[in-house]
Amino acid sequence: MKKVIVIGAGFAGLSAATRLADKGFDVTILEKNSVPGGRARVFEAEGFTFDMGPSWYWMPDVFETYFGKFGKKPSDYYRLVRLDPSYAVIFDQKTTVAIPAGIEALKQLFESIEPGSGVRLDAFLKQASYKYDVGMNKFVWKPSRSITEFVSLKLLYDLGRMDVLQSFSEHIRKFFTDPKLLQLMEFPILFLGATSENTPAMYSLMNYAEITMGTWYPMGGMYEIVKGMVALAEEKGVQIMLNQNVKKIEVTNRSAKKIITESDIFEADVVVAGADYHHVDSKLLGEYRNYSEAYWDKKTLAPSSLLYYVGVNKRIPKLLHHNLFFDEDFSQHSYEIYTDPQWPSKPLFYVSAPSKTDPSVAPEGSENLFILIPVATGLTDDTDEIRERYFNVVMERLEAYVGEAIRPNIVYKRTFAHRDFQSDYNAFKGNAYGLANTLLQTAFLKPTLKNKKLNNLFYTGQLTVPGPGVPPSLISGLVVADEIAKEFGPN
Ligand SMILES: Cc1cc2nc3c(=O)[nH]c(=O)nc-3n(C[C@H](O)[C@H](O)[C@H](O)COP(=O)(O)OP(=O)(O)OC[C@H]3O[C@@H](n4cnc5c(N)ncnc54)[C@H](O)[C@@H]3O)c2cc1C
Repeated sequence: MKKVIVIGAGFAGLSAATRLADKGFDVTILEKNSVPGGRARVFEAEGFTFDMGPSWYWMPDVFETYFGKFGKKPSDYYRLVRLDPSYAVIFDQKTTVAIPAGIEALKQLFESIEPGSGVRLDAFLKQASYKYDVGMNKFVWKPSRSITEFVSLKLLYDLGRMDVLQSFSEHIRKFFTDPKLLQLMEFPILFLGATSENTPAMYSLMNYAEITMGTWYPMGGMYEIVKGMVALAEEKGVQIMLNQNVKKIEVTNRSAKKIITESDIFEADVVVAGADYHHVDSKLLGEYRNYSEAYWDKKTLAPSSLLYYVGVNKRIPKLLHHNLFFDEDFSQHSYEIYTDPQWPSKPLFYVSAPSKTDPSVAPEGSENLFILIPVATGLTDDTDEIRERYFNVVMERLEAYVGEAIRPNIVYKRTFAHRDFQSDYNAFKGNAYGLANTLLQTAFLKPTLKNKKLNNLFYTGQLTVPGPGVPPSLISGLVVADEIAKEFGPN
């Protein structure tokens, strides 16, 4: 049996490991932290259970495909509920829109905001459905190691219809004019880590997924997905070793042969790097790195996040499960994230209250709040004072919106930002979501999934194909495992 070492027990590492074990490889995951899950870790404090990263469960079909590869279903591991309303958008203290789960109800909402927009939503979704079909069934499964994978008449025809050369911003303005509708439709694009001006229109597939497939929640919290994946990995024979911080990959004859952690040395026939690509390149590989520092510096990273995990000892009736505060100028905030990186002057922010759906994540009568402010990567002055200042900015707007004080009822609070992303995940410039899905960072233009100097070192995760987010990370692991099986199998 060939021995595979996977570095990192995030979604991508777990996915690659499970697939490889299923194909007969002997797989060990080395994870630096004391729990698996990577950016989707969880912690408990004062009776609250806080998911540390992802909170939106979109594209349920990808999770079904993932578990389906092993003859399983998500429901074998966790119970999903569909949220209705899916989420609330707060445009200002008086104007809030709750997004209903069904398409007909959504069309009515659109009509009430912009007459004629309901029918145009149908037309938009028809095009987006094609993009979802081609994008999610063909393109994301390509290892994208060469442009030649995309050179076939059918694929070129598909690419043409995918509107890859048009920006999402231009595309969406062909259907809607009301600023609220534009903001609603541009919101899912934020998940891709770039502005809608810099995101190809083919990513309207995100809107398609969100609107037609819905926003879901695994009861118990997002970490239930990790637990399910860990159980499945172990069932397939994967050994997960925690508190194993990889310090070096030792090379012999152009092969990564030894993986050296703080406490042990592991031999490998194949290595899968599921830790942040830049970290593996710059800290573990020395002269065998795939890309120079200058290359990485030119990349457009998806934002970092300033996060607050807050336990409140009362219920807050006005909040929904997901609440987006779009009550300030997004163009200014995005300028401060991408164009001239700095702390935002008037940030937009997001509040998740999973205790609205799931009583298990907070003590009775309490509310579990996860607050996220998207911020530029690479900010070096991530201090406690700055975090506290933004906490008060957010709380003032939140309290004004819900119409009651929250701060006196806070019984637990923890913050998380750049310096934690760096220390906990070795995140390049403190990024939260990897590389942005801009046109020039799509498919074969992304950092490639195989090391060019070593014959047995592969990369997976949100800094390589297909991109950031939980579903793409699952796909990334499966894709890299299949590439390895082609080169190093049969087993
Ligand atoms: C705050 C936040 C909110 C998000 N919200 C959503 C959402 O709502 N929906 C969604 O779909 N996606 C969301 N995402 C994105 C999603 O969580 C990520 O894209 C995904 O979890 C990335 O998985 P990964 O396996 O690529 O990386 P990671 O989860 O970072 O896994 C990499 C692993 O490698 C380990 N590692 C690093 N260095 C070493 C080393 N030297 N030795 C050993 N191990 C090492 C790390 O500890 C980590 O466990 C969010 C992310 C964040 C941070």
